[in-house]
Amino acid sequence: MSTAAPLLKVENLGKSFGGVKAVDGISFELHAGELLALIGPNGAGKSTTFNMVNGQLKADQGSIRFNGHELVGQKPRAIWRMGVGRTFQIAETFASLTVVENVQMAMLSHDGKLFSMWRRAADHKRDEALVLLDQVGMKSQADRPCSELAYGDVKRVELAIAMANSPQLLLMDEPTAGMAPKERNSLMALTKDLVIQRGLAVLFTEHSMDVVFAYADRMIVLARGRLIAQGKPLEIRDHPKVQEVYFGSGKTFEKIAEKAAALGVTA
Ligand code: ADP
Ligand code: MG
Repeated sequence: MSTAAPLLKVENLGKSFGGVKAVDGISFELHAGELLALIGPNGAGKSTTFNMVNGQLKADQGSIRFNGHELVGQKPRAIWRMGVGRTFQIAETFASLTVVENVQMAMLSHDGKLFSMWRRAADHKRDEALVLLDQVGMKSQADRPCSELAYGDVKRVELAIAMANSPQLLLMDEPTAGMAPKERNSLMALTKDLVIQRGLAVLFTEHSMDVVFAYADRMIVLARGRLIAQGKPLEIRDHPKVQEVYFGSGKTFEKIAEKAAALGVTA
């Protein structure tokens, strides 16, 4: 890990819904150029963590500092402007636009241009949008409507859209959901390229063990709102207790995290 100041520093972060502690005092750091996997069984608190970082949910306790600035209490739009991006599913209303138009839209939004200006600004940043599409391997399909694309290709366009405002940190909650293994690998390889080429930091959730081992620089494991382990993928896998449950279980992180929690494995 880099010795530079962390890009994201989360300390004692917590959020309850009624009596349920969805996230229970977790702390972790993320550096520029790092691909960090957040894993754990359903209900572990992964999405709640994401939504506190992006401002959709307000934390009950703790702090989230991004480049030294406190994010807790800030509006999602302000957090996005500070350089925290996230992948969105392409809205149905935009599916009729072409691939490159969708990316141009995202760029207009970043520049604060109004939607009503869209038609006049049809050529706005087309070249820049094409550069981004080239990076995600979608330049050749730039002028096709998104509605005609294969699922894996839509995901690539969504990644290009998320990159349109040049975020320093990209949040990806289950980016490969619904994808075939080959498509998953291809999307994560692409994400890894962006991390390397742009020094981007990525926080992502992923269910496939193979994908996490292949692409994550580091991982943190949540169970019932608690951070139960963190380290490099091989350190997590080689943790005696995690290893014990890993080789005895199906190859899913859900099972590892559940059993690790039961065994009291800690970071
Ligand atoms: P994960 O993404 O790891 O599956 P979540 O963060 O979605 O987990 O959920 C963590 C816990 O918080 C679960 O018990 C879930 O039922 C609860 N939870 C999440 N969001 C809400 C909400 N908006 N209202 C009430 N409970 C919620
Ligand atoms: Mg979730």
